[in-house]
Amino acid sequence: MPAEPKRILILGGTLEARKLAERLVEQDLHRVITSFAGRTRERNAHPGEVRVGGFGGIEGLRIFVESEPIDLIADASHPFAAQISSNAVAAAAQAGIPCVRLDRPPWEIAAEDDWRPVSSIEEAVAAIPSGAVALVTVGRQEIAPFFARDDVRIVARMIEQPDGTPPAHVELVLARPPFGLEEERTLFADKDIGILVAKNSGGESTAAKLVVARERKLPVIMIERPELPAATGSAASLADFLDLIHETLRRGDIGAS
Ligand code: NAP
Repeated sequence: MPAEPKRILILGGTLEARKLAERLVEQDLHRVITSFAGRTRERNAHPGEVRVGGFGGIEGLRIFVESEPIDLIADASHPFAAQISSNAVAAAAQAGIPCVRLDRPPWEIAAEDDWRPVSSIEEAVAAIPSGAVALVTVGRQEIAPFFARDDVRIVARMIEQPDGTPPAHVELVLARPPFGLEEERTLFADKDIGILVAKNSGGESTAAKLVVARERKLPVIMIERPELPAATGSAASLADFLDLIHETLRRGDIGAS
C-alpha cells in the first residue's frame, strides 16, 4: 500500500483503457482520470473520473498535468492515435512525470495470408482493385478519402455515422467492437466481400475479420502502424501494464527507458 494515493491520467478511447480504469478503480490505491478525445457521440459508462476533449496540444496537456496535478500518464490510446501519444511523451517530460504506454502487439501475418502492406490511408485507397467489393474498417475519421473510389463498392464499418452523406457506392455498417467470428463470417458472406482494408491495430476485439479473410482466401490491404516516440516504459499486456504503472509510481521514474 503506497503512503499516499497518486493521480493517474489514462489516455483512453480503447477497450484496454476501460479495463485498465476498471482494475485501478477496483484496486483503490490511486485516483484515476480517463481522458477521451470526444470523437464518439455516445459513450458507455466508464469507471473512475472522466474528462472529454482535446487538451490543446503539448502545452495544454502539460498545463492540465501540472494543475491537477497528475503523477503519471498511462497511455492506453489506440496504436494509430500517434498525435496524442507523442504529445503525452513531450508533456510528461516537460512536467517531470513518467509517461508509460500500453503497446498492443500488432497482428502477425500467417503463411496462408495475402496481406498487402501500405503506410497510409491514401495508399490504402489507391490499392483497392477496380470493381472490388471492399470491407473498410478504418473508422469514421478516415473514411472520407475512400468516397472518391466510385469504381468500387465500399462496405464501411464504423461505430458511428461519419460527417456528411456517403455517396451511393458506400454502404455503412454501424457497429461497436468486439466482433465475434460468426458475426464476421455472416458479414463477409452477406455483403460478398472481396477484399478487406484494415489498420494493423492488433488486439482481440477486431481480429476475427482477419480469420475470415484467411478462410475466404481474400487479400487484406493492411495499413502499417505509425512510429511513436519512446515512453518512460511500455508493456504489451494489461497485466504487465498494471505492474509497470505501480512499479513506476513506486520508483518515481521519469526518464525514457
Ligand atoms: P490523435 O490523432 O492521436 O490525436 C489528435 C488530437 O485529438 C490530439 O492532439 C488531442 O487533441 C486529441 N486527443 C486524442 N486522443 C485524446 C484523448 N484520449 N484525450 C484527449 N484528447 C485526445 O487521435 P485519433 O487517432 O484522432 O484518436 C482519437 C481517440 O480515438 C483516441 O483517444 C484513440 O484512443 C481513439 N481511437 C482511435 C482510433 C484510430 O484508429 N486512430 C481507433 C480507435 C480509437 P489536443 O492536441 O487538443 O490535446
